[in-house]
Parts: sequence; structure tokens; C-alpha cells
Amino acid sequence: MAIMCDRCGVREAQYFRVSSGERLCLNCLFSLIEDTVARTIRRYRLISSGDRIGIAISGGKDSLVLTYLLGKLRKHGRIPKDVELIAFSIDEGQPYSCVRRSNASDFVSKLTGEFNIEYRLFTFKELFGVTAFDVAQGLWGKGINVHMCTICGVLRRRAMNIIGRVLNLSKIATGHNLDDEAQTVVLNVMGNDIKRFAWFGVTPSNDVAEEEFIPRIKPLRFIREEEVAIYAYYHGIPLMTIECPFVYNNPRFELKFTLARWERDNPNVKYSIVSFGDQLSRIINDKFRGQVKLNKCTYCGFPTSGSVCRVCELLNQAGLLDKYLSHIRAANIH
Ligand code: SF4
Ligand code: ZN
Repeated sequence: MAIMCDRCGVREAQYFRVSSGERLCLNCLFSLIEDTVARTIRRYRLISSGDRIGIAISGGKDSLVLTYLLGKLRKHGRIPKDVELIAFSIDEGQPYSCVRRSNASDFVSKLTGEFNIEYRLFTFKELFGVTAFDVAQGLWGKGINVHMCTICGVLRRRAMNIIGRVLNLSKIATGHNLDDEAQTVVLNVMGNDIKRFAWFGVTPSNDVAEEEFIPRIKPLRFIREEEVAIYAYYHGIPLMTIECPFVYNNPRFELKFTLARWERDNPNVKYSIVSFGDQLSRIINDKFRGQVKLNKCTYCGFPTSGSVCRVCELLNQAGLLDKYLSHIRAANIH
């Protein structure tokens, strides 16, 4: 006898949801995902009437599912219809940049067209005058070993702020899912970096220490990665076929497997870790956030918690600071 869906009782179950112990048909799984995202947005007031929300599209499944869901929720009035959605991608300028590995450009055009979402492509080269690969080459040439993900990450955070200004965005939505968030908590613990929890959490935050002055929101942060992938697959959202080779040395990569092992013994472990991070964040938020003083970077003038921002520090090490500074002055990006 066929096992029926625990929710609707009408269709055959096709998915076992480890976190709740339910057997679900795909229709109910998809409704559950959409309801969870809509509830996250409503409960934590991630999006309000009149917002201009930027959607950071890497080309991976998470950001594409995010774009699809925000478009769909707005179309059905589950987020205010006057909210503007503007999607953008960033080409970091290294051979394995997400937008280059992604085979989603046709899908992005179709998706943004269908939901009336403006789409823009930016490059590190136009924003900084240098690519991520130029920076890596500069550092490697001096025998300095900085991981490519660090280069991408530091420049991408800055790029998002610049794009936020250029596009006049009130918030930027990113495709971080539950697994990403759980990894962040564990990495903060492993790095003994309690201050970072001050900027962890579900509500829009201005991360002063990381110079994130456009608030970031993460509507998918309560959805497990596996469920995002299933949602993507059955909605025709293309999945990336090759990984960036640099990812294999990223501590997050190993952690994926560790968390999967933990999940076998404790099906709710990812939710528990994220909830722990959120609670810790609330406790220490005021304590540390009040202590961070915002200065202007000596070189580029962007906000920083120290005297020199991380972008200038990195580009200086790579021997590219002058090139970067003359570029942003000429382009009036500061
Ligand atoms: Fe950059 Fe790392 Fe992503 Fe590769 S995996 S594109 S190096 S952030
Ligand atoms: Zn600077």
C-alpha cells in the first residue's frame, strides 16, 4: 500500500523530512518552503512597503530560488506589491567566478522578465579597477598566502555596498540557507570569535565591523540546503555543474560533511545551532555593537572599524592599492 503524504493525505509521499519526521508529497514540501520564507519575512519584518530590495544572484541554486520566491511572493501579494526587486550579479574576475561557472544566464533573463525584476551585472574590474585574480596574483607573487575565498569575500562585501548605493537599495537579500548559517555559527565558535555573533541573526543588520552599511536580509535562512536543491530542481532552476576548485580548501566545505554526520544522530541539529547563534547574538549584541566606532579608511574613505579597511589592507599587500585608489577616484566611487 502506498504511503500517503502526512500533510494532505491525498498524494503519495515522495520526501522524508528528517527535521520533522514527516513524509511529504512534493506539493506539500514546496508549499511548506514557500510558507516558511513568507513567515520569516513577516515575522522578522525583513521587507516593508516601499523597500527597494537588491537580490544578490551568484548563479547558484540558492540565489536563484530566492529570486524566484521573492518574485512569486510579491506577485501573490504575500510581500507588499510596491516593493521593488532589483537583482544583480557580480563577476569577481577569476576563472571560476560563480557567474562564469553558472549556466543560468538564459534562466535569469526568463525569471527576471517573468516577475518584472530589473537585472544588472557588475564586475570587480569596473568597481575596483582590478579583478580577484589580479589580487591573487599580486599576493602569490609576494609569497603571501591568502585564500581566494577571502579575496572574493572581502571585495564582494564592498562591491555590494557600492552596488547598494548605485542602485539606491534599502536592503540586500542574499540566498544564505540554514546550512550556511549553521556553518557560520560553528566557524565562529571554532575561531573563538564571539564578537562576530553581534552581527549574526535574522533581522536586518548593519555590520559595521564588516563595513556592511546596506542592511542584509536572508529570507532562506530557515530552509535546509537539501530542500532548496529539491525546490530548485523541480522548478527548472539550473544547478551548477562544477564547483569552484578553491572551495575544497575552504573550511566550510569540510563542515558540510560534519554537519551532515551530526544530523544523522540529531535531525534538528542545524536548527539548534542557528537558534543558539541567534540567542547568543541577542545577548551580546548591545554589548559589542555599542563598542564599535565607525571611522573613515585613511586611504579610500569607506567606513571601517579600524583606520585602514580590509579592502585597502588586502590591495596594499598585493601591490595594487595605488591602482585601486586612482580607479575609484576617477570613477567617483567613495
Ligand atoms: Fe570565490 Fe571561493 Fe566562491 Fe570560488 S568558492 S568563487 S574562490 S568565494
Ligand atoms: Zn580603504
